[in-house]
Amino acid sequence: MSEVIEQAVPAADKQAEKQAYENNKLHKRLCRLVGQAIGDFNMIEDGDKIMVCLSGGKDSYALLDILMTLRERAPIKFELVAVNLDQKQPNFPADVLPAYLDKLGVPYHIENQDTYSIVKRLIPEGKTTCSLCSRLRRGILYRVADELGCNKIALGHHRDDILETFFLNMFFGAKIKGMPAKLVSDDGKHMVIRPLAYVKEADTERYAEVKGFPIIPCDLCGSQENLQRKQIKAMLRDWEKKHPGRVENIFSSLSTVVPSHLMDRNAFGFVDLKTDGVANPDGDIAFDEEPCSTPAASSSTISLQRIDS
Ligand code: SF4
Repeated sequence: MSEVIEQAVPAADKQAEKQAYENNKLHKRLCRLVGQAIGDFNMIEDGDKIMVCLSGGKDSYALLDILMTLRERAPIKFELVAVNLDQKQPNFPADVLPAYLDKLGVPYHIENQDTYSIVKRLIPEGKTTCSLCSRLRRGILYRVADELGCNKIALGHHRDDILETFFLNMFFGAKIKGMPAKLVSDDGKHMVIRPLAYVKEADTERYAEVKGFPIIPCDLCGSQENLQRKQIKAMLRDWEKKHPGRVENIFSSLSTVVPSHLMDRNAFGFVDLKTDGVANPDGDIAFDEEPCSTPAASSSTISLQRIDS
């Protein structure tokens, strides 16, 4: 018996060591990818005060956690304020986030606004509530950002959200349009950033497990997850299983757009296009077969070093 124990202990140690190594690698990868996105899109500048929207889901916890790590290492100074909007959904555990944020020692604000009742009152039973709900939420968050003196708003959308939105817009909206990593808000007053833009959802999932984030369920409002988004998610999962690397290539393609080879007359001046008689070695070879090239490496590694070193 004692022999069994003697052999089992080192094996368990080895396993724990391996796990710690993997966890550390995951943390490093998240810091690297978030730093890279921040650098590529110039998301954070010296003196910024950033409102980090915290829903209680795995992605927003990961976002706050990684931004806090990067702030420690960054050669520039910026502030973070975590903000949660308590929409008064039934059974929302109002004490969970304050307890977590107190322990973390980050400045935070909980905004209490009963948008749940407004949505329930205005939208007939069985109709989808998300569009009014998110419109109300957006307005409140802009106001809170102003009140807190935040010039930027950070959201926890990741690579998979961006890809899903891209296909949703294409399949159901007939548009080539994704989810930008950085944008000016629709009221024209706020800069919205998505520092997890390069991060895979599987990584935020794993990171949430490793860190034991106190996850708040996202279905408290009773609304079902968008069926179309579910279909897209399944399609991407299936592609990735059958054709590893395809999803990564699609994501890279979002950074390498060639408007002259699409059909959007607003994005490229086809109507006024003229020949200039000057040969261009990189010009179009309209009669040749397009080579299937591998995506160019990201140009971002240099800027990444600014924040992730
Ligand atoms: S799922 Fe619920 S909380 Fe989220 S946007 Fe839709 S109605 Fe609002």
